[in-house]
Amino acid sequence: MIDPVAALSRIGEENAFAVLARATKLAQAGADVINLGIGQPDFATPAHVVEAAVKALRDGHHGYTPATGILPLREAIAADLNRRTGAPVDPERVMIVPGGKVTMFMAILMLGEPGAEILYPDPGFPIYRSMISFTGARPVPIPIREENGFAFSAAETLALIGPKTRLVILNSPANPTGGVTPRAEIEALVAGLAAHPHVAILSDEIYGTMTYDGVEHVSLLSFPEIRDRLIHLDGASKTYAMTGWRLGWSVWPEGLFEAARKLAVNSFSCVNAATQHAGIAALTGPQEPVAEMMAAFDRRRTLVVEGLNALPNVSCVTPAGAFYAFPNVRETGWGAKVLASALLERAHVATIGGPDFGEYGEGYLRLSYAASESAIETALGRMERFLREER
Ligand code: PLP
Repeated sequence: MIDPVAALSRIGEENAFAVLARATKLAQAGADVINLGIGQPDFATPAHVVEAAVKALRDGHHGYTPATGILPLREAIAADLNRRTGAPVDPERVMIVPGGKVTMFMAILMLGEPGAEILYPDPGFPIYRSMISFTGARPVPIPIREENGFAFSAAETLALIGPKTRLVILNSPANPTGGVTPRAEIEALVAGLAAHPHVAILSDEIYGTMTYDGVEHVSLLSFPEIRDRLIHLDGASKTYAMTGWRLGWSVWPEGLFEAARKLAVNSFSCVNAATQHAGIAALTGPQEPVAEMMAAFDRRRTLVVEGLNALPNVSCVTPAGAFYAFPNVRETGWGAKVLASALLERAHVATIGGPDFGEYGEGYLRLSYAASESAIETALGRMERFLREER
């Protein structure tokens, strides 16, 4: 047998995909499974975006594009970011990648190595820790706490920075908590980073357009003082319901852009040409489909949060962004992972146990409210019965 080299034995994965596979298997065997596990909008990609891809294929866009992506898409992204954040974004620093994940893959690969430390949110997207470990760098968790509304604490984050810190990963609005970090905390973080000029920042803003109740999303791009060390991660997956298209983008500081381009040339060459044309339509076309999707998410958010708080021994803070609820299930007496697994196998409701997002996720479940209101109501009813009757 041939074994992978040591670095690959350290790489992790995303349990949401395993839960999806198990839920699909149960459904194929005839179970009526409600999937609140996977983090993808249950809406179709807006029709005009699909049409743009079809047209691009008919028009003959079948070949490679530049590794960094086609210029009109990079310009559309720069213009959109400029409109949303007020920051001047140079299209020449925008890189098109096959999904948001690829930006974190590249950034962590560039900056992680044995002896270095990388800070990442915990609970947080599991790929951060996986990739940090892969490079041999030491993963340093930044605790994300319920008592802070699942926002980053600037003081706690800054206190973890040391001489070996290479990169700090931030994510707001956040997966898996739905937490949105308020302006005051972000300003304090940016101010504190001035004392650590050797530290780069990866700001994962893939949910940047997804906040509720008028809550402000503060983009790290809007702070000129960190622009020379900021990697902005973004993409179409969530905002435009395009998870399967694999369309992400990033803005790189001058020193890192060329490395990102080389990594693209060495791996995926370029993003699918038709997908890139679809991206132009998504960004420059009508935004009503996005608004309708957000209105539906908002209604479901209320339903989920009220329903969860009515369950025995469960409490849930109201998430301000993304499309996840992160209820505290500690008082139920169940371990979070065991509960998630029992809910799937015995009540046919797929959720993800908080520990799949890090050690500070123990005691929580993640529910993605990317399901219809009636499915959510049924799922909550099943969870209620389960928690009252099962051991
Ligand atoms: N970043 C966060 C915080 C996410 O939750 C996800 C997907 O769930 C991604 C990045 C990856 O997005 P993509 O599907 O575009 O690779």
